[in-house]
Amino acid sequence: MKLTADYHTHTTYSDGKNSAAENAVAAEKAGLSAIAITEHGYSHIFRGIARKETEAWLREVHEADKLTRVQVLTGIESNIRGISGLCDLTERDYENFDVYLAGIHIVIRYEHARDRKIGWGGWFRRTFGAKPSDSYVKDVTRAYINAIKNNPIDIITHLNYQTFADALEVAKCCADYGTYLEISSKKPHLTDEELAKCVDTGVRFVVNSDAHSVDRIGDTKLAEEIIARVGVPLDRIDNIDGRLPNFRFAEFKKHM
Ligand SMILES: [Zn+2]
Ligand SMILES: [Zn+2]
Repeated sequence: MKLTADYHTHTTYSDGKNSAAENAVAAEKAGLSAIAITEHGYSHIFRGIARKETEAWLREVHEADKLTRVQVLTGIESNIRGISGLCDLTERDYENFDVYLAGIHIVIRYEHARDRKIGWGGWFRRTFGAKPSDSYVKDVTRAYINAIKNNPIDIITHLNYQTFADALEVAKCCADYGTYLEISSKKPHLTDEELAKCVDTGVRFVVNSDAHSVDRIGDTKLAEEIIARVGVPLDRIDNIDGRLPNFRFAEFKKHM
């Protein structure tokens, strides 16, 4: 398995250690044809890119794009902010980004106070080993599904990392809407059983590093172990072995 493009990398504009230019150079060394620079979205407290920084960030990413043969895309790792599926981007933001990732993070500005349970509730249960209730799983699943239905999301990042959704239902929705499920090489997120159920839905996958430093750009080690263990068919992964994904967000923007 050879990674073609890494669609999930951070820089110092969120909680990464390096610049877009440094990420591009590392991507070239790793033999990638493209990377996306995907900072945490606007509602991430402490670690998100600020809206007012977007212009300077865009300039840096465009400069990085010219630096090497690697295509450097502008992206965002948006937060899912509530059960309604509200995300960080409004349609006015869309022109600034090539790739639209979304995931659940904990320390964010939630849509409503009651939505805090999506992130904090999962963190609490993971930390203290408490079993999630059915109603909790239902709420988190609705948050993911509403996000996918209401926003042209290309990739759901690290599904079920520190939270508990019904992975099968989320994967079905991804398959229906043309949203990719990420297999992260940074951290385990789905259990093998959950991932096997996702495979059965026909959903398509991308492998991403979620690199926060240049040494991890293009890293696939953990993802490869998971893929081998679960038996994910390699032809269902669209950013390896010379293939590039068909992203929904770019298609959506053509019709705006
Ligand atoms: Zn994340
Ligand atoms: Zn990330």
